[in-house]
Amino acid sequence: MDGSFQIEAARSHYAKSGAADAAFRAEVDDFLDTALTDELRAAGRATTGLKSSPEACAAWRAILLERGWVAPSWPIEHGGAGWSTAQRLYFENASAARDAPILQSSGIRTIGPLIIAEGTQAQKDRYLPPILSGAHEWCQGFSEPQAGSDLSALSLRAERDGDNFILTGSKLWTSFANYATHMFLLARSDPASSAGRGLVFLLVEMDQPGIEVRPIRFIDGACETNEVFFNGVRTPAADRIGDVGEGWKAAKRLMEIARSNNTTTGLLRRAVRAAQQGAAAAGAVDDEMHARLASLVLRLDAFEALEAHVAAGGIAIGPAPATSALKLMATELHQAITEIGLEVAPHTAFAQEKYFATRAATIYSGTSEVHRNILARAIGCP
Ligand SMILES: Cc1cc2nc3c(=O)[nH]c(=O)nc-3n(C[C@H](O)[C@H](O)[C@H](O)COP(=O)(O)OP(=O)(O)OC[C@H]3O[C@@H](n4cnc5c(N)ncnc54)[C@H](O)[C@@H]3O)c2cc1C
Repeated sequence: MDGSFQIEAARSHYAKSGAADAAFRAEVDDFLDTALTDELRAAGRATTGLKSSPEACAAWRAILLERGWVAPSWPIEHGGAGWSTAQRLYFENASAARDAPILQSSGIRTIGPLIIAEGTQAQKDRYLPPILSGAHEWCQGFSEPQAGSDLSALSLRAERDGDNFILTGSKLWTSFANYATHMFLLARSDPASSAGRGLVFLLVEMDQPGIEVRPIRFIDGACETNEVFFNGVRTPAADRIGDVGEGWKAAKRLMEIARSNNTTTGLLRRAVRAAQQGAAAAGAVDDEMHARLASLVLRLDAFEALEAHVAAGGIAIGPAPATSALKLMATELHQAITEIGLEVAPHTAFAQEKYFATRAATIYSGTSEVHRNILARAIGCP
């Protein structure tokens, strides 16, 4: 099955659902067909992790920025595309169908929208333009050695000193902290507090004395996650979202935004395409393999329908459990796809990297067990 089939599938799905109107779809298709060079498509196809190479991301970002489409969900007055959820979904899937580079910017998807929704005017002026241009890259500093699934157990200390907080402690598993210019983080401003009370949500510059980033090398050699140590780091108290002591509220709002901005169908379609191509290249497409690949495509079609339904607000179990269902399904499907990719081409670096990259999906953004708990509660299990 080649890319053109995927494009047709995306077109017909949206034509049927009427989710994004025909003029919009044609505009997006025309733009992508023209703007995506062979080189950019090759970089998109070569991506094995969560984002494409820095060079490809920079080149694709510049093109999207010029077109005004680098931040699909942001309002136009802040430099975004101002698209509806259905339009964003169409754009993501149409981009994936053509192997566009994957930007996966935390600034655009999570902290930028939070600053737009809850930040001060000074924060909007200071932070939004460099997020759009790519001059600032953000990482998320929530997890700590003793705080993962139970995030509210976090203990990074934020001690008030005049107009500043002094940060002492550490964060763990911080993705892309080794590249990021900024981190948004949760810290404990009230040492006597516990759980979700007494926290502050801070915007912190990474390049300053007292911050040490130690990359964690994974089994496949990848170095995307990090330990980050704060040794008396001085950071302005004004650089916070929400009130002191109300950090948990800001973090919950960020999670809501992340939920509404996250789409996965395109990523999964890319992975299936890679597995199909790997199987064809290895001459491994016998009847059994054909049936296994077809079954993955069917599961993906079902996933796409569910994702579109959730995005349209059509799910009765509420946004958080619906996100849990999507995260679980996507994780298991992605792993099943990359298992086949590795099976048919066990000695290629591409298949190995893709396989390993999807293993961690059962842990990050909430573990599978935690999401199953959320779903179980939503359907009334004790
Ligand atoms: C590749 C990767 C990237 C990450 N990126 C980031 C990042 O950028 N920023 C960030 O802040 N964090 C990040 N994380 C951290 C991630 O969010 C945590 O690892 C995750 O929340 C789990 O926390 P933990 O590792 O402390 O495990 P624990 O919470 O200690 O869990 C250990 C085991 O117990 C299970 N468990 C825990 N509680 C329950 C329960 N109530 N019921 C049933 N089972 C339970 C878990 O499912 C797991 O199997 C990343 C992690 C990984 C692996």
